[in-house]
Amino acid sequence: MKEKGILVVVSGFSGSGKGTIMKQLLEEHPSTYALSISATTRIPRPGECHGKEYFFVSREEFEQMIHKKALIEYAQYVDNYYGTPKDYVVEKLEQGKDVILEIEIQGALKVKKAYPDTLLLFVSPPSAQELKNRLINRGTEEEAVIASRLSRAWQEAQGIEQYDYFVINDDLEECVQEVHSIIQNEHARAARNCELIETIRAELKSFAKGE
Ligand code: 5GP
Repeated sequence: MKEKGILVVVSGFSGSGKGTIMKQLLEEHPSTYALSISATTRIPRPGECHGKEYFFVSREEFEQMIHKKALIEYAQYVDNYYGTPKDYVVEKLEQGKDVILEIEIQGALKVKKAYPDTLLLFVSPPSAQELKNRLINRGTEEEAVIASRLSRAWQEAQGIEQYDYFVINDDLEECVQEVHSIIQNEHARAARNCELIETIRAELKSFAKGE
């Protein structure tokens, strides 16, 4: 029987580089991971495509998804809705893939509540100044949006202790390696191997009885 995958939530301030890390992780290990694609009411940035970065939907369509309970979680972030479609995540976990949700903190905590064995990772740049520089240099956002993302980052920073791991994104390749190791080591955790442990225990019991 193939082991079920691990549900992994990766959060990080807007501009932390988590999107790039996830893209690289998937490129390096395509058969290990599946990346969930969220639905959002945000307008696509230049170069973003429907069904690739996000499913870009109207507010009405999003509210329909909420109504039909088609989302594992959803949250409002800087005036837009973002949510995780359920079917894809469940299907990939059953196939044994480690499924990555790249979502913000409110959503992360909701997922952890619904699925307590979720692994929560928080990615941060090495400093707050570096975060500000990255947001400005990205050049895709208005000044007011950058300001609201920085203020949101300050709010999110209050909840980081609730995550299982805190990873610094300074060197991209090192960070990708670190994230991969954390997730793969998690498979060896005793509490995630209860069925196998039980099987071995049962076999040992029969040996001990001389069977
Ligand atoms: P952006 O607009 O920069 O693509 O994303 C804004 C924030 O929304 C990021 O922190 C991103 O991780 C988060 N986000 C993306 N998809 C989801 C989702 O499905 N649910 C939640 N709760 N947050 C999401």
